[in-house]
Amino acid sequence: MSTCILWFRNNLRLGDNTPVAEAYSHYSTVIPVYIDEDSWHNTRWVEEGKGDHRLRFLTESLADLNDALRNNSSELLVLRGVEPIKALLELAAKTKATAIYAPKEFAYNERKVEFSLRERAKDQGITVHLMTERTLYLESDLPFGVNEIPEVFSRFRGKVEKRSRVQPPIEEPDVSSFDSLDFNLSSDRIQVPNVFQDQRSAVPFNGGTIAAWRQLDFYLWESKQILEYKQTRNGMVGRNYSSKFSAFLALGCISARQIYDELQRFEEEIKSNESTYWLFFELLWREYFQWIALKHGKNLFSAHGLQRERPIRQGFNARAFEKWTSGNTGDSLVDANMKELAATGFMSNRGRQNVASYLVHDMGIDWRAGAAFFEKHLIDYDPASNYGNWLYNAGRGNDPRPFRKFDTKIQAERYDPKGEFIEMWT
Ligand SMILES: Cc1cc2nc3c(=O)[nH]c(=O)nc-3n(C[C@H](O)[C@H](O)[C@H](O)COP(=O)(O)OP(=O)(O)OC[C@H]3O[C@@H](n4cnc5c(N)ncnc54)[C@H](O)[C@@H]3O)c2cc1C
Repeated sequence: MSTCILWFRNNLRLGDNTPVAEAYSHYSTVIPVYIDEDSWHNTRWVEEGKGDHRLRFLTESLADLNDALRNNSSELLVLRGVEPIKALLELAAKTKATAIYAPKEFAYNERKVEFSLRERAKDQGITVHLMTERTLYLESDLPFGVNEIPEVFSRFRGKVEKRSRVQPPIEEPDVSSFDSLDFNLSSDRIQVPNVFQDQRSAVPFNGGTIAAWRQLDFYLWESKQILEYKQTRNGMVGRNYSSKFSAFLALGCISARQIYDELQRFEEEIKSNESTYWLFFELLWREYFQWIALKHGKNLFSAHGLQRERPIRQGFNARAFEKWTSGNTGDSLVDANMKELAATGFMSNRGRQNVASYLVHDMGIDWRAGAAFFEKHLIDYDPASNYGNWLYNAGRGNDPRPFRKFDTKIQAERYDPKGEFIEMWT
């Protein structure tokens, strides 16, 4: 009998998931575990802990994964309030597991945990296998090494589009015939918190793989909304202006490769146009931020970001910040967006750019305070995308146009010409 631990992090699905496939193909007993890791990057401005909506979406995703495992006579062990490395090694000792399989993360704190786990596991004779499942491309598919990743998006995109190929998704393993041994392990209950779901929400669905595929099905095949994505993607009202895949991708309920694969099938069977290409283009933005996070490590989370010189001034004013977080700045576009975030855990890309610009360039507040607030509340929080976009908007990323101040009045006129969005959230 051979036992391994399958450590789920932001990869809460069974299909197209290399650590899952590998664990089940090499071991007769697999112990799936999820550990609540709060790897806060900046805790100076925002109280630790996940906001209600983020917590709800995560818990639903865990419940969904647990159901999928249960159908296969296994159960997800959930641990909270523990130190991840210690908990994993104790679990390994208790179950006599000889290996730990886990996804490779891209952001600094998460990777620090991986390095220490590897070191400490070695002393116990346990092998740690960290595998990429999060991105469209594997490191070996990229036309450059991680240290040579182009700093500017257009160059990154140009090279990968020309020289890299997205591999097809890998099959979900059939885990029904696996041993389910009783190790008498105690798990936290997966209890979905009762959070009020606002009817105005642009993301009116639950977390989990089933919901992710339903949304993919809806956006592509059922509504065919994808065919207008390029024209609608800057919208702010309703379910249809953009794909709403982000939270599923952030938690790994679905993989980027699975979406890409389905998109290709749609293009072959129904239609291919500028809009279908544009969804791929946006997935490349996500891809770029993941690899940039890997390349730049902790700089992504520092005040100066990816720029060499320190910022001249990083202000903070608690009262002004409170006005921003509660949607009481007096700027109607900013306030409506912040109210939407509080009520739903989501905000459109257009909204995010505007509220970020306002905080940094109009209020003169340290960009990291805004990023930390998003980290707490967004259901699609992803360290690479969140901190990468904040840096970009704050002019501390690697943008060739470093000063990205938005005029929120002009933005409201252009993207909310009838005032529908502002009225909805006022
Ligand atoms: C300040 C700020 C913070 C952000 N924080 C996050 C975050 O924590 N997590 C997150 O997933 N996105 C973040 N974004 C990017 C973007 O706003 C969201 O991905 C998008 O609004 C999600 O909606 P959608 O899935 O309908 O996107 P669509 O427009 O349908 O795009 C499809 C997918 O492409 C990816 N994508 C699109 N735009 C971007 C982008 N600018 N950067 C990275 N990926 C992108 C996402 O995975 C998205 O699901 C942030 C943007 C800004 C300006």
